Amino acid sequence: MIDYHLHTSRCCHATGTMEEYLGEAVKKGLKEVGFADHFPLGLLDFTPRAKVTMEPAELDEYVQDVEDLKKSFSGLQVKLGIEVDYIPGTEEKLELLLKQYPFDYVTGSIHFMDDWDFTHPVYADTYKNRNIDELYRHYYKLVREVCLSGLFDIIGHIDVIKKFGYRPEDGLQSLWDETADLLKTTNTAIELNTAGRDAPVGDFYPDFPFLERCFRSGVPVTLGSDAHSPGQVGRYFPEALDLLKKAGYREIAVFRQRKRDAISLI
Ligand code: ZN
Ligand code: FE
Ligand code: FE
Ligand code: ZN
Repeated sequence: MIDYHLHTSRCCHATGTMEEYLGEAVKKGLKEVGFADHFPLGLLDFTPRAKVTMEPAELDEYVQDVEDLKKSFSGLQVKLGIEVDYIPGTEEKLELLLKQYPFDYVTGSIHFMDDWDFTHPVYADTYKNRNIDELYRHYYKLVREVCLSGLFDIIGHIDVIKKFGYRPEDGLQSLWDETADLLKTTNTAIELNTAGRDAPVGDFYPDFPFLERCFRSGVPVTLGSDAHSPGQVGRYFPEALDLLKKAGYREIAVFRQRKRDAISLI
């Protein structure tokens, strides 16, 4: 099995050394992992209220560390990924920056609506003052923009807007249908992200019916724990594997130098 969503202490809200993450992956019997730490928002001239990404000056060192571990760490395939915030209007700048590094894959995630980090517990109270149906529609509009930008291989935690347990009264089916079809036509993968189990919502991203819908549309899937500490590597993976199979998946997507391949789930 693979874990394509590991953070490092550079983002300042994760702990442990990179070697400790890899050690845990070996212990859990994983065959391949990818670091996907938070891309420095400073390079996109975006300054969040709370620091959540590495500093611009740390990116080279991060890339070098992963490249070194690829060579030195035996018993495990290591990939160089990066989790990039989608900030509307920064696409051209981002495209140039991404080209400068040998990433195996780029995960596009939405954590911000305007300047609100809606995934950050400190700002979770803001949900109380928002129209949740409106919020979901806006969130999924951003998801569509991520797909259409062509800059990302994988969408991170695709329904993270549910993180604090706020659910729309309108059904989600039409948003899921539209999104799944667009993922397919833009050749974008999703991840089954198990971190949501430890968030207030208590469930993986995405919801199971959405995962099934993605399978039916032919959308490739990867798997990630979104580990922010070594012990979280591969969290809930036996259950995740069962869900992937139950949704219909028999293969999982892997990436090398931004080319997608697939390995058998069984
Ligand atoms: Zn993080
Ligand atoms: Fe994220
Ligand atoms: Fe993450
Ligand atoms: Zn994440």
